[in-house]
Amino acid sequence: MKHILVVGGAGYIGSHMVWLLGQRGVRVTVLDNLSAGHADAVLHGELVVGDMADAALLDRLLAEGAFDAVMHFASCIQVGESVADPGKYYANNVSNTITLLNAMQRHGVRQFVFSSTAATFGEPQYTPIDERHPQQPINPYGRTKWMIEQALADYEQAYGFQSVCLRYFNAAGAHPDGLLGERHEPETHLIPLVLQAASGRRSHISVFGRDYDTPDGTCIRDYIHVMDLADAHWLALEYLAAGGRSTAFNLGNGDGYSVQQVIDVARQVTGRAIPVQEGPRRAGDPARLVADAARAREVLGWRPGRADLAQIVGDAWGWECTS
Ligand code: UDP
Repeated sequence: MKHILVVGGAGYIGSHMVWLLGQRGVRVTVLDNLSAGHADAVLHGELVVGDMADAALLDRLLAEGAFDAVMHFASCIQVGESVADPGKYYANNVSNTITLLNAMQRHGVRQFVFSSTAATFGEPQYTPIDERHPQQPINPYGRTKWMIEQALADYEQAYGFQSVCLRYFNAAGAHPDGLLGERHEPETHLIPLVLQAASGRRSHISVFGRDYDTPDGTCIRDYIHVMDLADAHWLALEYLAAGGRSTAFNLGNGDGYSVQQVIDVARQVTGRAIPVQEGPRRAGDPARLVADAARAREVLGWRPGRADLAQIVGDAWGWECTS
């Protein structure tokens, strides 16, 4: 691999990926409109500030870059916002992604790693969720990602695109050396919010529902370290470079932790009091989302190295303490 275009490389997961590509000695160009990303999170390569909706800019980049592959992290990711403002999600996550794919096609770049999501599955029919689980998303966010997964199958058929769709469960944690971390504005994710309550940046954490059909009544999720996600992306690039066919992998640790367990672990890791308030259920939250990532282990040889929740929370705490 000589040159990779990372769209959305200034965001949370993208910036960790760019760092890893730097460690592997790969040339990187980041395209990011900085709507959610941060220029100072791009620790390697060249940052082009621009939008993937800009076909002329894409043409210029792809004509000059001699890229081996494109990685696409530039999505709107909030389920609630996608329900309130679906137009934003269909425009960015679908229409603009198609603009990117069509530009790749024009320039003969046909290897693509796509950030997909557990939200493409909808309400789980069984857990842990493997790749054979039916995909019936229940919100616009999940539908936009599912649409691109389907488009990629068509692009393989018609144009010979090779793509890997990586369906993240709950991305969490931060760079272990404190170089990078999660900086969403507004922050909606559980672990950074819990840690902001621990550091005093927030007064409390609200628990969204305690009446789910789970042992302690709070929702169960599969938290996966952002560096382990980056490792999976690297393996996906290698898989494509070796001529692998288009496919999808679910990425999680296979361990479910409840909201209450996350708060308990955060109390242990930080040694701080974390005030809790009880809140109502959040619309669209399934009780339990846990990945079966056996396929990623078998096909890619992926081995999550930071699966322990205390380590995930500890790395995120390191980042919270530097923020
Ligand atoms: N959650 C919560 N309080 C918060 C934020 C999240 O109780 O302030 C719960 C949420 O209902 C879900 C879990 O934490 O059950 C993980 O939510 P998050 O938004 O981090 O990720 P998602 O599962 O939506 O991808």
